[in-house]
Amino acid sequence: QSRLAPRMRSVGISPTAEISNKVRAAQAAGFTVTNLGEGELDFATPEPIADAGIRAIRAGDTKYTAVSGTAALKAAIAAKFERENGLSYKADEIIAGTGAKQLLFNAFLATLAEGDEVIVPAPYWVSYPDMVRLAGGVPVIVGTRRSERWILTAQALEAAITPQTRWVVLNSPNNPTGSVYSPAEMAALTEVLERHPQVMVMADDIYEHVRYGGAFATPAAVAPALGGRTLTVNGLSKGYSMTGWRIGYAGGPSWLISAMDVLQSQSTSNPSSISQAAAVAALSGGLGFMEGWLQTLEQRREIVMRMIDGVDGLEADTPDGAFYVFAECTGLIGSLAPDGRILRSDLDVATFLLEEARVALVHGSAFGMPGHLRIAYAVETKTLQDACRRIAAAVARLQ
Ligand code: PLP
Repeated sequence: QSRLAPRMRSVGISPTAEISNKVRAAQAAGFTVTNLGEGELDFATPEPIADAGIRAIRAGDTKYTAVSGTAALKAAIAAKFERENGLSYKADEIIAGTGAKQLLFNAFLATLAEGDEVIVPAPYWVSYPDMVRLAGGVPVIVGTRRSERWILTAQALEAAITPQTRWVVLNSPNNPTGSVYSPAEMAALTEVLERHPQVMVMADDIYEHVRYGGAFATPAAVAPALGGRTLTVNGLSKGYSMTGWRIGYAGGPSWLISAMDVLQSQSTSNPSSISQAAAVAALSGGLGFMEGWLQTLEQRREIVMRMIDGVDGLEADTPDGAFYVFAECTGLIGSLAPDGRILRSDLDVATFLLEEARVALVHGSAFGMPGHLRIAYAVETKTLQDACRRIAAAVARLQ
């Protein structure tokens, strides 16, 4: 008899966290493994931002703050939304949390009743379905296609909406595909959503700044009529290389923000006071460092694309954003490894590459899209080149 709560049956450890654990274990055992599985930039947090954190410690900003964030941070978030997205949020329509992850989770927990449906386009970020299930909801997975740039179509969205639909999750730039919704593609979706007032919009904009050209479109800005039922979620993890600082933020209707505040007050309380001070510096300090980062990332994206183009059995289109390539690997499924194993799934392909190429990747099934691999290219360029060579060499040993 398990001592665990029944709700634990519906969730598992995040597959990306699991792969990182495997990599750490292999490294601890003395193996060199390149981790192309993790959604994390290798760049250091920009110095002025880090300095603001250090100054906060020295100044004694080391105490509890308001649960939903300091007034200074909320003002910086409001200014960011206004300046970069044309969105106006008042202080009671803004909350800061311990990563975007916590805010997404709390929003679902605050709104879902047993059996409520949440539309999640696939491939999806690994945590959405499990978060929905933990909150008692039912993830309704809607597939997208590589031939349509992995963009959710208006028809597919319309067909998935029922009277029980509470949320649709829209994530652009997308993890794991790197696809970026154009303003027109976003407008096609918001037009559908305007006709279904029971549906709220969860906009996960965490990769907003990681784009290689092309406009950024967030639902509440594209369709102001949806503003009262949209939660615009963002954070510092990806755009500022601040994953460990754990700061996310969201703007939305005050009734929802205050419910999320209640949940936060009874669980984790405020995000780290030190990180909040650094976040004020980040959001107020401009994005001067971004151009150089994007140039480096673009070169790395090229390295991965060239490797894929040269490897029989892997296929992908160049993504417009984030730092992932989502490659089809169906051409490798059914092949025979040198040790006599047949690779029967994308997980087998990923395991083969971990063992034979010493490169960790995440299999597409983890994102609800079997037959694929997600390659995260946010690692040092030379390391990435070596890893790509090892992948190509390992695949060449398959029959
Ligand atoms: N949303 C997406 C799509 C992500 O990929 C991630 C991180 O991997 C998050 C949210 C969570 O980010 P944070 O570090 O702010 O919790």
